[in-house]
Amino acid sequence: MTRVPLRWLRPLRDWSLGSRMMVLFLGLLLVIQALAFFATQAILFDNARRSIADELAVGERALTRLLEQSASRLAEGSRVLSADFGFRQAVTSGDLPTIESALENQGGRIGASVAALLDTSFDVRVSAAATGASLQSAARRLGAQAQAQRQTQRGSDEALSLIAPVEGVPMQLVLVPLKAPLLSGWVLMGFSLDPWLARDLRRLTALDVALLVGSASGTSGTLWHAPISSASAAVTADLVKARLPFDTPTPNQARAVSAVLAEGEFGWRSVRLSAEAGAQPSTVQAVLLRSVDDAVRPYERLRWLFAGVTVLGMLAFAVGGALTTQRITRPVQGLLDATRRVGAGDYQTPLKGTHRGDEIGQLALAFEQMRGNIAEQEIELRRAAYEDGLTGLPNRLRFGLAVQEAIQARQAPSSGRGFGLAVLVLNLDRFKHVNDVLGYAFGDRVLQAVAGRLRERLGEGDVLARLGADEFALLLSSNEHANALRTAHAIAASFDRPLSIDEQTIDLGAGIGIACWPEHAVAAEALLSRAEVAMRSAKRKASGPQLYDSASDSTSAQTLSLLSELRRAVDQSELRLFLQPKVAFDDGRLVGAEALVRWKHPTRGMVPPMEFIPFAEETGFVRHLTRWVFEATVQAWKQLAERGASGLRISVNLSTHDLLDTELPDRLRALLDRHGAPAAAFCLEITESAIMDDPQRAQATLERLRAGGFKLSIDDFGTGYSSLAYLKRLPVDELKIDKSFVIGMERDADDAKIVRSTIDLAHNLGLTVVAEGVENAAIWNLLHLQGCDEGQGYHMSRPMPAPEFAAWAERWNNHSATGWGGLEVQPRAASAVA
Ligand code: C2E
Ligand code: CA
Ligand code: CA
Repeated sequence: MTRVPLRWLRPLRDWSLGSRMMVLFLGLLLVIQALAFFATQAILFDNARRSIADELAVGERALTRLLEQSASRLAEGSRVLSADFGFRQAVTSGDLPTIESALENQGGRIGASVAALLDTSFDVRVSAAATGASLQSAARRLGAQAQAQRQTQRGSDEALSLIAPVEGVPMQLVLVPLKAPLLSGWVLMGFSLDPWLARDLRRLTALDVALLVGSASGTSGTLWHAPISSASAAVTADLVKARLPFDTPTPNQARAVSAVLAEGEFGWRSVRLSAEAGAQPSTVQAVLLRSVDDAVRPYERLRWLFAGVTVLGMLAFAVGGALTTQRITRPVQGLLDATRRVGAGDYQTPLKGTHRGDEIGQLALAFEQMRGNIAEQEIELRRAAYEDGLTGLPNRLRFGLAVQEAIQARQAPSSGRGFGLAVLVLNLDRFKHVNDVLGYAFGDRVLQAVAGRLRERLGEGDVLARLGADEFALLLSSNEHANALRTAHAIAASFDRPLSIDEQTIDLGAGIGIACWPEHAVAAEALLSRAEVAMRSAKRKASGPQLYDSASDSTSAQTLSLLSELRRAVDQSELRLFLQPKVAFDDGRLVGAEALVRWKHPTRGMVPPMEFIPFAEETGFVRHLTRWVFEATVQAWKQLAERGASGLRISVNLSTHDLLDTELPDRLRALLDRHGAPAAAFCLEITESAIMDDPQRAQATLERLRAGGFKLSIDDFGTGYSSLAYLKRLPVDELKIDKSFVIGMERDADDAKIVRSTIDLAHNLGLTVVAEGVENAAIWNLLHLQGCDEGQGYHMSRPMPAPEFAAWAERWNNHSATGWGGLEVQPRAASAVA
């Protein structure tokens, strides 16, 4: 296989626009030039043929004239001789030598090649030079003509002329009568036509002439030979072989008849020279020849000129075309490059060539405008991608990058900064509530105000960002946890100052979590999520900013296995139900109990709920726990009821997840139906924060639970931020004051005040008030004085395993019967882990 340059094999559509245009235009030009060339060529040849026809016709006339001239010269010579007295005498006397010498002399004078004396019957008597049979036969024919002329009375003095072959060579013969005074014979003189005729004709006309002598041949018509010809031997031979219809005189036509002979195409015209036509042995035809090539030759230059003009034209066209194509394709290429740049994300490099007035300029201008628009949009998008629209702060994405950059800067070997980093994540408390109650527009203003407040705390090189709804983050360059904690506390303290917006004053709190690099995490992403974990823990504990602690991190490796362990706990009955009694303040009567779950871990022993409930809440597993606890509680209640204590009401704790679970009311209902227990025997405790996570949904669920007959209680009241006014809208029956206030009320006047006002307000709203954390008699007495309805606490009993509760209740009731009313009843010794 031969290797062909692949470029030429490429399909046309792969060629560049420029190449295609060039090829197309050059091709078109070539086709047009070729057409023009062939058209001119055809016209030239046609013209040549016409002019050849003319030339041949002129040639024929010239030939005739030449022959006439030579005939009259011969006739003149013959007449002079026939009129010569001496000659006549010699003829009369039969003096043959004199006759012969006279013939010779006169013939020689006029250059005749034949001179003869014929008798009256046209037999040759004396002849100078040529003699023989052929002369005799020519003489006979001339004689026949003379006879014929006599008969037509055309005068007998007329010289007769004839062209006939003598010895195979065409000759012009002239016959003149010899009268002395009666006709006594004929003088015959003749010229050989060779070579002068052809030469003279050539001189006059530039035509070739061939004299053909025809002889009859039996079957195939006349056979010709050409004894005289001015054309080349090869052409003459071809002409003879071509057997053209020489006999018939060529008519006068616009275009010459032509034949292809040895040296090309020739126009030809045959002229009959001998008197007789047809296949006479003595037929002589002159064939005039004109080489078409020769005729066209003068135009050869024109052809070259044409070719030259074509080549020059193509060159000029190619150069012009290339320039024009470039003028088009270069800017198009520029546009293409620009498109590629834009495609690759470079919107900044401006496009050249927009100044052109033509379509390409307009295209470039339109493209340039598009690029500009895209560039603007890009900036806008970039801004939107990295900036929080509301506060103008960096967003989560930007913050993540900033943390990453800060980490990289510290990891770079060149950086001499031994400083660590701290990420603070801050989440506002009650923000959902602000939005719900005061509207989103107001909520936005609050967020802007918070952003403003946080900005005040920024040190050099610190980054503040808004991560999401009500969550902010700070990146601090600090090498000590203490510094970060100090900043966090300062921020927390700044929230003590209420925000005032539109004459509204609102108190905001925030949970703040801190994670430090490189102690808590080495990667930016992890650092941020650990700070969030710490923040959630801070919110749960509600005791100020928290440093990240892997123990409370549900995502940390330590607790990752916890979920599967918890599953196992439920499946393999490792959970235990504990009950803690609730006692009425007025008469010390046992009114119920709170169900509290414990985990009897195979290796860790009894695990308190605070070590797995928050985790279960975060993972959503708490729903399974709730189901388990409720089931266990209903069973415990049934056992109590069987022992005659059906009046006790047992409280079960619900978490946020349970409240958001729309199927919960139906599930609890089904469970009760299964055990045949009344809903009124159970109270469901919900923390404020659980309600605040999604107040609308929580309220809907609460309403359904309430409609189902359950009592509802607000747990841990005081730690959240819900106002009593808001809680009033909820279908609750009971309010549990958080143990932190209750435990503190003994020593802290503020706590005591809070407890007192809570009791009053709750009573005003028609709610039962329960105090948890009644740890001692003093607290008991205080609460009793303040009119609290029920109490729960270590003073009465720690939570105990459910199976022990019935016995405890019996003991309590017996004591109670012996004069309860104050604090005579000694709290039962703790029987379980609290
Ligand atoms: P809580 O609902 O506020 O439960 C009362 C907690 O206060 C119980 O802790 C109880 O042992 C403790 N307590 C009772 N009296 C006193 C007292 O006089 N002094 C002190 N210092 N503490 C007292 P526990 O059992 O460790 O439960 C802790 C928390 O775990 C509960 O707080 C509750 O939020 C959660 N929890 C416990 N069991 C369950 C449950 O079954 N389901 C759900 N969702 N949460 C549960
Ligand atoms: Ca509770
Ligand atoms: Ca509580």
